[in-house]
Amino acid sequence: MKMTQLTCPNCGANLSVHPSDAIITCEYCGTSFEPGGERMQKHYAMKVNFGQNEAFDTLKAYLVKVPGVSNDLASIISFKDGNMTYYPYWVTNVKGIVSYVGRDRKATFRDKVKRRYSSISWEWVDEAGREEQTRQIRQYAGPAVRREIMNYPIATRGRRYFNLKEAQKYTANIVFSRIPEDQAKQQAISQTRQMIMSRIQKETEQIDNVRESFTVTDHAYVHVPIYSIRFTAGGGKVYEAALDASNGRVLYSDIPRTTGFKLKAGFTTILWFVVAAAGGVLMIFLPSFFYLGLGLLIIALVLALMTLFLSFRRTAAESAR
Ligand SMILES: [Zn+2]
Repeated sequence: MKMTQLTCPNCGANLSVHPSDAIITCEYCGTSFEPGGERMQKHYAMKVNFGQNEAFDTLKAYLVKVPGVSNDLASIISFKDGNMTYYPYWVTNVKGIVSYVGRDRKATFRDKVKRRYSSISWEWVDEAGREEQTRQIRQYAGPAVRREIMNYPIATRGRRYFNLKEAQKYTANIVFSRIPEDQAKQQAISQTRQMIMSRIQKETEQIDNVRESFTVTDHAYVHVPIYSIRFTAGGGKVYEAALDASNGRVLYSDIPRTTGFKLKAGFTTILWFVVAAAGGVLMIFLPSFFYLGLGLLIIALVLALMTLFLSFRRTAAESAR
């Protein structure tokens, strides 16, 4: 990979960066700037509130609640290695105002005879309206990584100005944005526009004329510190997890399951499939128990699939806290 050489506009350090990097953070002084040299003013980071040990404890506390994880996980789980990465996101507030003129078809029912209308006529009615919305658009800005990180709905409360010392204290790797600032704003505007237009289109069948204005009311570059942790659980197999170092949320974790649990879950799944089949037999051969059989079939199938999903999915993710 051919790297590009740049000079930090603040401290003059020579930096070698990826040609696609759109915002560079100087590893010596923490200044963020565009390849052209223009400095980013609003560069924030979420505060690190969890040390690596605390993050690992949080992960353990989360995993013991996941179905199929051994009760004595706490005594067999063992930290292997971990590191912190600052992932970049654009957070843009957009205010959109759309005024529109259009037409809607309205039905007129006539000649009601015995609860039925013998004639329906349609006519176009003018519609006009105004839709105003303010949206916060959060976009992952770095190179492609796991989808849990790219789709992560980052928290934005508690952000502070980016502090290189804090990142260095945790020997964190800092990922740079591949999306230039202007492009991030344009994408945020176009997403807001789509949301507003789809709402208008639901209300009005034909839109003839639109007047729109979009204003970016706030725009920030935010780094979120995320731990990547590898661990073992009694055997040689290595599991992976990622946690938000700011609020302790588990972005994803491989689930360590005991062989005993897998056997039991496999047996339970087969059992529910057998019950479902019995329901099917009842439906076919005993017509008077048709609905009982059908009910049995549906319920047992749902339980079989739920057992299958909950017991054999490989990774879990924590919902918002
Ligand atoms: Zn510098």
